[in-house]
Amino acid sequence: MSFVSEKSKATPHNVAREMFDMQAGLKDVISFALGEPDFASPKHIVDAVIDSLKRGETHYTPNAGIPVLREAVAKSYQDRGLDYSPSEIIIGAGAISLLLLGCNAILDIGDEMILPDPGWSNYRGLPLMVGGVAVPVKIHEQNSFMFDVDDLRAAITPKTKLILINSPSNPTGGVASKENLEQIANLAKEKNLYVLTDEIYRELIWTDEPYVSIASFPGMKERTLIVDGFSKTYAMTGLRVGYAAGPGELIAAMTKLLEHVLSSVNAGMQWAGVAALTGSRDVVEDMRTAYQRRKKLIIEGLNAIDKISCSNPSGAFYAFPNITKTGLTSRDFAIRLLNETHTVVVPGTAFGEAGEGFIRLSFATSEANIEEGLRRISAFVKNL
Ligand code: PLP
Repeated sequence: MSFVSEKSKATPHNVAREMFDMQAGLKDVISFALGEPDFASPKHIVDAVIDSLKRGETHYTPNAGIPVLREAVAKSYQDRGLDYSPSEIIIGAGAISLLLLGCNAILDIGDEMILPDPGWSNYRGLPLMVGGVAVPVKIHEQNSFMFDVDDLRAAITPKTKLILINSPSNPTGGVASKENLEQIANLAKEKNLYVLTDEIYRELIWTDEPYVSIASFPGMKERTLIVDGFSKTYAMTGLRVGYAAGPGELIAAMTKLLEHVLSSVNAGMQWAGVAALTGSRDVVEDMRTAYQRRKKLIIEGLNAIDKISCSNPSGAFYAFPNITKTGLTSRDFAIRLLNETHTVVVPGTAFGEAGEGFIRLSFATSEANIEEGLRRISAFVKNL
């Protein structure tokens, strides 16, 4: 018998992190590995943390979060036409904690959860960690990297309970159309399934279409858990605060579970969330503008390289180019590029089998890095 459980052994590593770690010891590295804004957290947000600490708020808070933040989150949904009350909101230590708590609260042992393939690598660990089963369903470039509803239908078994949607998507930058979401919503209602929607990149959309949450379709609020947070939009990854919105019964169950894991998120970070939601949005707009410039640079640059083609991401800060024509596997491409040019990208297979033939580049990095990285990738591909 091993000290370490089989289910924790089976929980996959985040390969993006592994690629990042592989650069240790190398000089002159350009990294496109991490999905983390390179901007400093906005000053008014940092000040809110400091002020809270200075007020002496160094004690436990209510398990589900401080009322003022739950109210601010509920109001932000109401402003978007989604009718959530504060009792339907829970605060966690980053979106990831709420994805896991949500899975824990929704799935019983053996229940199946459908995930996008390619999809964020951490998704596959979520059902495993709570005794559920991950069922990856392929998404395709020609379908904007979103679920085809027929593929979903084919993957449903009597054990299916939950469908995970991530729009905009990490790693592909795909955004689900309203029609696509409506089809998925109708399928969920027809088959009596629940939906977990990870909307962490919701404010990083590069098209003119307004963002649509699957929870907004009739009859969907009661079967949807929305997970969101501040990390990406507000460059607050290290502050670890996120939120979820869902039916009161589910939020109450998650609150009970959260008590066993976190007790509560620390007060200062929750005030950071309040500052993010109620403070000036100028910094967010500045970051969005910078991402758009970088996106143009990286997508045009990648498409100018022979044997590489990259569709234009509709959201998030990832380019997901197709490298099939280079003749290399995703992993060989990434490892050789790292060893030969000290440039870090993540192989598409880090996000599931269907990521073969692709690599992911985060463009949450400076224009100078993007230009230099593109020069290196171009020279590397020419020399193959
Ligand atoms: N969801 C997706 C799709 C992500 O890419 C990430 C971070 O990379 C997260 C959730 C985690 O966000 P947080 O920092 O709020 O835990």
